[in-house]
Amino acid sequence: MSQAYRSTRSSGPQALTFEEAVMKGLAQDGGLFVPSEIPQLPANFIEEWKDLSFQELAFNILRLYINPEEISDSDLRRLVQVSYSTFRHKDVTPLQPIDKEKDLYLLELFHGPTYAFKDVALQFVGNLFEYFLTRRNADVADDKRETITVVGATSGDTGSAAIYGLRGKKDVSVFILYPTGRISPIQEEQMTTVEDKNVHTLSVKGTFDDCQDIVKQIFGDADFNSKHHVGAVNSINWARILAQMTYYFYSYFQLVKQTGNSKVRFVVPSGNFGDILAGYYAKKMGLPVDRLIIATNENDILDRFMKSGRYEKAAGNPAAAEVKATYSPAMDILISSNFERLLWYLVRDNLASGDDEKAGQILNDWMVQLKTTGSVVAPEEVVKAARVDFDSERVDDKDTAATIKSVYQAHPDKYVLDPHSAVGVATSYRNIDRDAASGEKDVQYISLSTAHPAKFADVVNQSLAGIDGYSFDKDVLPEELRALATKEKRIRLIDEASLEKVKAAIEEELAKE
Ligand SMILES: *Cc1c(COP(=O)(O)O)cnc(C)c1O
Repeated sequence: MSQAYRSTRSSGPQALTFEEAVMKGLAQDGGLFVPSEIPQLPANFIEEWKDLSFQELAFNILRLYINPEEISDSDLRRLVQVSYSTFRHKDVTPLQPIDKEKDLYLLELFHGPTYAFKDVALQFVGNLFEYFLTRRNADVADDKRETITVVGATSGDTGSAAIYGLRGKKDVSVFILYPTGRISPIQEEQMTTVEDKNVHTLSVKGTFDDCQDIVKQIFGDADFNSKHHVGAVNSINWARILAQMTYYFYSYFQLVKQTGNSKVRFVVPSGNFGDILAGYYAKKMGLPVDRLIIATNENDILDRFMKSGRYEKAAGNPAAAEVKATYSPAMDILISSNFERLLWYLVRDNLASGDDEKAGQILNDWMVQLKTTGSVVAPEEVVKAARVDFDSERVDDKDTAATIKSVYQAHPDKYVLDPHSAVGVATSYRNIDRDAASGEKDVQYISLSTAHPAKFADVVNQSLAGIDGYSFDKDVLPEELRALATKEKRIRLIDEASLEKVKAAIEEELAKE
């Protein structure tokens, strides 16, 4: 089957290649790219795939979404090998029993270079960018080469994954803005000790919102954009979703092989809905996942949607909604951008009689309404269809901290969770308790662990304070992160949250590259 992509907001015929979808990132109409047909797995896939390595599985899955005319088998194999060679664990994403008695397992997604789950996707995306640019520039004179300037803002926890995905990549430059003094020392060290010349960190005197505003203005600046080909690697890029599908398959096979029991539920700490959306694709391809459970923090738009069908920035007065700063900052969002992709499939199959173009029309109307009023109410058919695959839970800061503590105390090896993973584990235990109460048996939970606890030292230390024998240095901090403190930092300070100053700094740094 030939694979083609279209925008979630397009009401006309559309068939983009994988390369176009990846290199554009966001569609011109503001929509996100989706494959209109979700490929189906071969009938005997369990037998054939269950013993494959992570890399072999990744290849098989990617192959279903990328036509061989675009990337050959041998090139795709090489891209996969290179992308996961930077991971510290031989399984790439190992499965850890965390509470065997209750059939709860942690899927550790943080063994990549920056100790966060975003590495699984961004290591691959960086190599893809380089691959496509190298091909486009094969016969081009040096001064005519196509280049990309990736610009992004971070509140600390996710900028490093973009930097490590793009470091040293030919024809790519990367600029990450962060608020001066408002990110943790480890997070700053991770971003600023990278030596590659194409990596630039801008420490901006202001807040994270200031940084994000500046980035948005840069994207909206047509002159600057056409001169420097500004790009993004944020979580709406299709290649990120695609790369994340592998660990659903890999962990499913590992668990089912071990236990012989195939009733598996995935619990996913969610913000922009990218991580769990990969699980949805896996399920729709035919992986027999029992349920997907969305775990949100107090920024709970997804949980509210699942319960009420109202997709709105805040209950009550959506127009005045504000993001709440929680213990799990990578999940602090008002709107989950990737949710639009799920909505598109739900609308197409339940409201638009399977018609792609009609689905695009409806989604476009909904997204305009969301932007203007902060609220969309989905019809009952759509909400019902969502509930076929998904459940949800909302976990507050208090529960998050209590879960870090109780898991540490109960685990034989004193396992330390980061606050994002703790939102997932708290959700898992609520479901386990409910199963026990209703008499449901033989359910196994795989709770996704999205970051290493060392990245969120403050919350972890606060949650474990006063426990006899606990030591951040001994129990949590890996040697590799400790060593960053002594490395030389490269930071460019921007002494005012000013668009002009940031633009000038970018141009100066580009000229130096
Ligand atoms: C990005 C992130 C999440 C949320 O993932 P989404 O794909 O945005 O739902 C959760 N935890 C950590 C540590 C993250 O960095």
